[in-house]
Amino acid sequence: MDAALRGHPYVKSGIDIACWDILGQVAGLPVCELLGGRYGEDVALYRAISQESPEEMAAKVAVYRAQGYRRFQLKVGGDPDTDIARIFAVAERLQPGDRLVADANTGWVQHEAVRIAKAVRDIDVYIEQPCLTYEECLAVRRQIPHPFVLDENIDDLGILLRAKADLAMDVVNLKISKLGGLTKIKQARDLCVSMGIGMTLEDFWGGDIATAAIAHLAQSTPPEFLFSTTVFNSYVTVSTADGAPQRVDGRMAASKLPGLGIQPRMEVLGKRVVEIS
Ligand SMILES: [Mg+2]
Repeated sequence: MDAALRGHPYVKSGIDIACWDILGQVAGLPVCELLGGRYGEDVALYRAISQESPEEMAAKVAVYRAQGYRRFQLKVGGDPDTDIARIFAVAERLQPGDRLVADANTGWVQHEAVRIAKAVRDIDVYIEQPCLTYEECLAVRRQIPHPFVLDENIDDLGILLRAKADLAMDVVNLKISKLGGLTKIKQARDLCVSMGIGMTLEDFWGGDIATAAIAHLAQSTPPEFLFSTTVFNSYVTVSTADGAPQRVDGRMAASKLPGLGIQPRMEVLGKRVVEIS
């Protein structure tokens, strides 16, 4: 696909995932077996907590823990003082074994990111993608004590290798369509395993089909490097495929059927917008 069209990883991702589904169906193997083998029975999920008041966000921890989640991704990147209050409020509700990430989604400027992280220096929290650029994130990383996650800046192998050389992160958030499909994210995933970097494996958003692809990728990753993953069909109200993984007690498992193990619901997806032969 790269030889035919430069860029456009989001478009290529869907086609690439479909090719892995076809390969699995032809081989009679689930995609996770093709991607490296199935580890364990299931994988742990994180739950994103959207920006609200500190108290409202803290209250969500108990709601989501009751659903089985133990990994919480706090959406910050707003007003710095409110974000400090959000992190303190949520951290107070954590229990042993819980894991907290404060994900700014590029929303802080560099000096604010350093100030916020230093204000919560004694809290057991990962800081994810505080600023817009790689260089700003690296500058913050070098001034703060927390474990550090890069996300938006890591979109190919070149920057992943540079980030490793710079010791710019402890964990990386890899999204299937950001890399351009399962083929490319598998390369990045395997490289992270070799380099000792933890991973959140997911996508930008999605429903049943994206969730199925994520589940196969996550469950074929050595568990010590799988920081967390996402079950996107828990966040949406429309089902786009039958047989997709479902959240059970904060965890999900890839299908044991060949391919992705799903049947797309064409009546929901609607008419094809492109045909490839
Ligand atoms: Mg992120």
